[in-house]
Amino acid sequence: MSRKILIAGNWKMNKTASEAGELARAIVAQIATLSAIDVLMCPPFTSIPKVSEIVGTSNVRLGAQNVSDKVSGAYTGEVSAAMLRDLYVSYVIIGHSERRSYYGETDAFINKKLLTCLDSNLIPILCVGETLEEREAGKVEEVIRTQLVGGLAGVPADKAETIVIAYEPVWAIGTGKTATPEQAQEVHAFIRKTISEILGTEPASKIRILYGGSMKPANADELLAKPDIDGGLIGGAALKADDFLALVKSGVKAQA
Ligand code: PEP
Repeated sequence: MSRKILIAGNWKMNKTASEAGELARAIVAQIATLSAIDVLMCPPFTSIPKVSEIVGTSNVRLGAQNVSDKVSGAYTGEVSAAMLRDLYVSYVIIGHSERRSYYGETDAFINKKLLTCLDSNLIPILCVGETLEEREAGKVEEVIRTQLVGGLAGVPADKAETIVIAYEPVWAIGTGKTATPEQAQEVHAFIRKTISEILGTEPASKIRILYGGSMKPANADELLAKPDIDGGLIGGAALKADDFLALVKSGVKAQA
């Protein structure tokens, strides 16, 4: 498999800048030169300068959890792609289910942010996933196809393969319920097939599809062993250095 595994931590609205510094230091100290897989930490905006300093020239990558769809100007409370680039951010989580459900983000709005990222050479991690109600109604494929078609509209061909997708079943986020490796693989394969219809087979074979939803050291090996699971987007378990480092270890094992 030529896709490089990506283990990404989404710290959500946790950690002050000094707490974030401590967590980042504990992680970077162990894996500063790791090159077999990609490792990413996504702290809240206020901690990005601190974590950026700690990441420095190590191989650990820095991500943000959101970005404005606008370039600059009178948009109170927003943070632009250029501001993130200036702090050496290289990835941005887009369309997380918490932003979709609590802040009303639509596929069209998420698409604007994704295109802004690509324009600014930031790598978007586009999150998709169904609710429990949608799964029980047999609508998994319909929901995910709609999110992908809407989110990936207008992607320039030369940037398509840099995009990362995260499959995060909403019912598995922060609940302790994980999709079984078989359930996850089934949806990941569907996502890859749908991407090939939207963007073409070549980008679809290169785009990394992460699993997210209560991934932890106890279930990571099984999930990462599946052919279309190319890494993890991790919430709760990314907040403890030991757990996150164990997940990095699982990633290295799966890549080998
Ligand atoms: C997430 O919100 O991206 C996530 C996967 O959270 P958790 O690992 O806590 O389920």
